[in-house]
Amino acid sequence: MKVSDNLVHIQTKIDEVCKKVGRIPNDVKIIAVTKYVSIQRATEAFEAGITHLGENRDDGLLSKYESLGNKPVWHFIGTLQTRKVKNIIDIAEYIHSLDRMSLADEIQKRASRKMKCLIQVNVIGEESKHGLSPEEALLFVQALREKNYDKIEVAGLMTMAPFTEDETVIRNCFKGLKELQQQIQEMNIPCMPCNELSMGMSNDFEIAIEEGATMVRIGTSLVGNESKI
Ligand SMILES: *Cc1c(COP(=O)(O)O)cnc(C)c1O
Repeated sequence: MKVSDNLVHIQTKIDEVCKKVGRIPNDVKIIAVTKYVSIQRATEAFEAGITHLGENRDDGLLSKYESLGNKPVWHFIGTLQTRKVKNIIDIAEYIHSLDRMSLADEIQKRASRKMKCLIQVNVIGEESKHGLSPEEALLFVQALREKNYDKIEVAGLMTMAPFTEDETVIRNCFKGLKELQQQIQEMNIPCMPCNELSMGMSNDFEIAIEEGATMVRIGTSLVGNESKI
């Protein structure tokens, strides 16, 4: 399938969901997750009109950046080891995986501009997943406020829903992220607009949009997964 065909299909679904819940489709950014596909396929996605591309490893980001340069808006969506911050800091526009102070310290140290960071939250408390619990995220935000870092903007929150068929579980996860966003926004902290909710992937983006997602991270159903062929 061509990326452009997949994109039409996904955009149609997004438009339908937005209509249903009274949201504006333009308020939902599609991030094409290109981690499973070639540079050629990532280029095809960009040429199909998808300007936001996401990678979850520093080497993947670097190799695609070598071809596409600064034309796309790059999102780093994976677990980020502190020692790898320097590899991605000048390329990524958004980091979706801020989950500890040592990482914030390193971003502050290495960045040459203000970085848009999303705090990764493990809403349901799944053992296998990275991210802070909602309670920890609130404490983290307060600790970060004390630091007054000028290179870090808390642009929003990110979560991954559990891998399950149970829609209620998935929906509750997204609702939990939205509630946390409201709590953080009520704190009115400078440099923490927290407007973005990065939630929803191939299997659950429609539920995520119903619950307020502003960024959906879609890999398999948009660009495919070449590692599964
Ligand atoms: C791989 C990945 C995605 C995309 O997943 P698909 O199911 O292929 O759409 C989204 N978010 C993160 C953090 C990922 O690692």
